[in-house]
Amino acid sequence: MSYAVISDVHANLHALEAVLQDINGKGITDIYFIGDAVGYGPRPNQCIDIIKQRCILTLAGNHDWAAIGYTDITYFNKYAKQAIEWTIEELSNEHMEDIKSFNLIKSSEKEDAFFAHATPMEPVLWSYLFTVEQVEKNFSAFKQSICFIGHSHLAIVFELEVSGQIYIHKDPIIIKNKQSRYIVNTGSVGQPRDNDNRSSYAVIQDDTIEIVRVTYDIEATQAEMKAAGLPEMLINRLSFGM
Ligand code: ZN
Repeated sequence: MSYAVISDVHANLHALEAVLQDINGKGITDIYFIGDAVGYGPRPNQCIDIIKQRCILTLAGNHDWAAIGYTDITYFNKYAKQAIEWTIEELSNEHMEDIKSFNLIKSSEKEDAFFAHATPMEPVLWSYLFTVEQVEKNFSAFKQSICFIGHSHLAIVFELEVSGQIYIHKDPIIIKNKQSRYIVNTGSVGQPRDNDNRSSYAVIQDDTIEIVRVTYDIEATQAEMKAAGLPEMLINRLSFGM
């Protein structure tokens, strides 16, 4: 059993292609996508097409929902708002319909896994999981042994040990403890924010969880963003991964 989980593509086609190539190179065919196909980046239609073709799960994130008017964007910062307004103009009707068909949460019996863009508990609030207290509560919101999230664009793995202790892993490879349960934030394919400009995604093998980093053609994405007239701040941050 091995599969990949990708999140927060944000219409960054070059990053998505680099990650899919990396996944191919590992001989992995099952790819789960957990939300935010669009927003920030310059290639929303193409990214949705590829995600539809390649992923066996497609979840919606808050930017996807914003692009189809399902969530209000008053709480978005001005750059995110500008990018969503541009995305709404750019998206074809067909791709708008695609987003409407994306799930909010989903579980997989085969992988004994649960998937949500932001949090397994009250996913529609689009909260961030930062404190141990929030993490504890969220472990009770799903029954599978592992849950995947994105949203913060920061890769991190929380382990709930059988004793009830929460352990926070920041190392890229974790050997799974059979008695523990896990919440894995995969990090972001299209707009990493942990001061590393490489795309981030997760690979699960029989007994390991790995956060994989992949370089992509950042300048090509930045040129497309410039041509689209997307905000300078969003263009620049890709260089730094922040
Ligand atoms: Zn996102």
